[in-house]
Amino acid sequence: MDDYSSVELENLAKSLGADIFGVGDISSTLDFICEQGGEHLRKFSRGISIGIRLLDSIIDELYRRNEASVFYTYRALYNTVNSKLDQITFTLAKYIQNKGYQAYPVPASQIIDQNKLIGVVSHKLIANLAGLGWIGKNCLLITPQCGPRIRLATILTNMPLDSSKPIENRCGDCNLCVQICPVKAFTGVPFNPREPREKRFNAHLCHKYQREREAKMGDTLCGLCVYICPYGKRQSKL
Ligand code: SF4
Ligand code: SF4
Repeated sequence: MDDYSSVELENLAKSLGADIFGVGDISSTLDFICEQGGEHLRKFSRGISIGIRLLDSIIDELYRRNEASVFYTYRALYNTVNSKLDQITFTLAKYIQNKGYQAYPVPASQIIDQNKLIGVVSHKLIANLAGLGWIGKNCLLITPQCGPRIRLATILTNMPLDSSKPIENRCGDCNLCVQICPVKAFTGVPFNPREPREKRFNAHLCHKYQREREAKMGDTLCGLCVYICPYGKRQSKL
């Protein structure tokens, strides 16, 4: 059977507010995906990744993240974008279902295992397979256009959509995210799909730091590893 063109879905996603869209072939990573999210995901062969770019005017201020006016604004942005992503994935999933295929929207921000600190699937993995970017030393998806200044959501489907190939890692010698993290959560080891996340990132250190911030200041988001990445930073127009 020929692959379906993904153009209609991309146009729909972008008309609803998505900035980036891609489709990855997930067949070769299904064991990993099912181990994390459950055996019911094995029927899917494609992962659709969508992303919405965050606002530079807010991300550029995150070096002042301990000030209430900054972290509350970042929190509002984060929540707004996550909610918009979930609305878009729901609409795309309905579109796919109406074409006679199955579609499984994965929420933009949800932890299903508090010990492992993981979601149903890794949005970054799907976005990487869909050719939207690489996994940086900060363990975030880094897109050529907006770096890590993006939020992601995923739809798994059995619709045989045409798919893209992953792009190469472009972190090079940069180590800025490793250096800036206040709890030294990153090891600086480049992404390798055959190695566990723990080799690169101690998610519990970040999580604990965010909880401590919450107890102290009433909110949790840090975001320095998003702020510092040179990819996505725009030159000042002043
Ligand atoms: S959000 Fe902050 S604490 Fe967490 S990994 Fe990034 S820089 Fe480190
Ligand atoms: S700050 Fe540097 S090392 Fe970290 S993800 Fe961005 S490019 Fe890669």
